[in-house]
Amino acid sequence: MAAAIDPSMNEALLARLRFYRDLGLTEFYRRPVDPSLIASAVEPTSEILQENEPIPSRKPIPAPPAITTQIKPADKAAALRLIQDDIGECTRCALHAGRHTIVFADGSPNARLMFVGEGPGADEDAQGLPFVGRAGQLLNNMITAMGLKREEVYIANVVKCRPPGNRTPEPEEANTCSPFLFRQIDVVQPEVIVALGATAATYLLGQRQPLAGLRGRVHSFRGTKLIVTYHPAFLLRDPRQKKEAWADLQIAMRELGLKLPSRE
Ligand code: SF4
Repeated sequence: MAAAIDPSMNEALLARLRFYRDLGLTEFYRRPVDPSLIASAVEPTSEILQENEPIPSRKPIPAPPAITTQIKPADKAAALRLIQDDIGECTRCALHAGRHTIVFADGSPNARLMFVGEGPGADEDAQGLPFVGRAGQLLNNMITAMGLKREEVYIANVVKCRPPGNRTPEPEEANTCSPFLFRQIDVVQPEVIVALGATAATYLLGQRQPLAGLRGRVHSFRGTKLIVTYHPAFLLRDPRQKKEAWADLQIAMRELGLKLPSRE
């Protein structure tokens, strides 16, 4: 038998839904958890392994519906704050136990370009902002090379709490947290998303493939152009791949209509 709903809870939920509706947010979803991802007991644990090792293909996760709701630019900051409110002092997955700070995002709610990484590291956990450590410095350089400023783009991660020892988030953790990221994307509605590394690519594309097979072309995340490249932390370990990453960023620049560097 279904449990009775507390009337005060019911009223609070209705008030929250009305608030969302007034902001133009009418669609909510959770991407279904792929049991085969959760069942994967052995996951690559380092960024280097993730980027280079072949990952067996698995059953694709059903794609969420295409974005149909348009949010006015003036309302986007408020809509993002609502998502942050919903996260609250989140304990929805095991990662809450070791975090100091929930790292929500950084950048402009009206950005045309969004970067998505894997999860916070130690510096990010301490400061509450994504990509502020050494990898963040490299990302800043990449953004500058594109002719943009960090404050013009939007930066977020698949998980918002630091995995212990900077390990890769477990599928259950990423599947629990990623709906918040998807809602951030729905609000910002960037023209182009750049997935930084294998974890971001896996959860945005809903499929696991070696990064090498995903780079160098334009994918789609719910109708938004998605480009996959290496995570800056990987580029710090293997700077030889910076040239490849720059080629990926130039695809993003082309899609955004940004001026490309002249060929020598
Ligand atoms: Fe909540 Fe995401 Fe942190 Fe897990 S990682 S506790 S789902 S905010």
